[in-house]
Amino acid sequence: MRKVFIGGNWKSNGDVNFIKNHMKSVINTLTFDKTKCEVIIAPTNLHLEYTRSLLDKDSAVEISAQNVSAYGDGAYTGEVSAKQLRDYGLNWAIVGHSERRSLFGESNEVVGKKTKISLENNVKVIACIGEKLEERESKKTMEVCLSQLEAIAKNTSDWSKIVVAYEPVWAIGTGKTASPQQAQEVHGELRNWISSKVSKDVAKAVRIIYGGSVTEQNANDLITQADIDGFLVGGASLKKGFKDIVDSYKNYKI
Ligand code: PEP
Repeated sequence: MRKVFIGGNWKSNGDVNFIKNHMKSVINTLTFDKTKCEVIIAPTNLHLEYTRSLLDKDSAVEISAQNVSAYGDGAYTGEVSAKQLRDYGLNWAIVGHSERRSLFGESNEVVGKKTKISLENNVKVIACIGEKLEERESKKTMEVCLSQLEAIAKNTSDWSKIVVAYEPVWAIGTGKTASPQQAQEVHGELRNWISSKVSKDVAKAVRIIYGGSVTEQNANDLITQADIDGFLVGGASLKKGFKDIVDSYKNYKI
């Protein structure tokens, strides 16, 4: 009933030459059943057009922004508005990535505003949440994740336009993946929260994806968990193994 969602977040990586090669050798070789799986890649804003120009015309891969402004058009130097993303033909934006929260001071309130303005402009949102290591160690994982999710939920008018990405901060870019059981435990609780606070139907339909050192080695074990509906992939989305990560959708059973 849910379609697998796999995103490649390129962060501030890649130059013209890398993108040219990666599009040819990896992204344009991806084959997947688009009734069962959705794939997005998120280059820097600088490389959006170049990446789009290299995507095969019949490719089902979509291009996403890595970020969006909390404001509309206007005097906001360096920002790109949701209205501009929409106008440019982009359907997706990543919101609330932990690097934006920790390095650029984005609060739950800002993440909520970005979610709201994206949805208002018909840009779908990959909404990231996740706890830091010390929060997990002091058993605050769900408290932190649910307060982040609540800030997103308060600003969400249409849940069919939201993908929730659970990304434990201690697993991002560290090579430490949450075990399939650790990830499933959180995903299950997130879905229960959505079921009780939003609706059972939304809980059944919404994709909850996992991010944090996903590779071709662990994707198959993670995707077979009951509440894991795909991945947000950083480092491994820049490598050949991204193709195998995308192929893991074939093991999804929901
Ligand atoms: C991410 O940046 O969203 C991410 C999960 O990174 P990585 O896969 O490198 O841990």
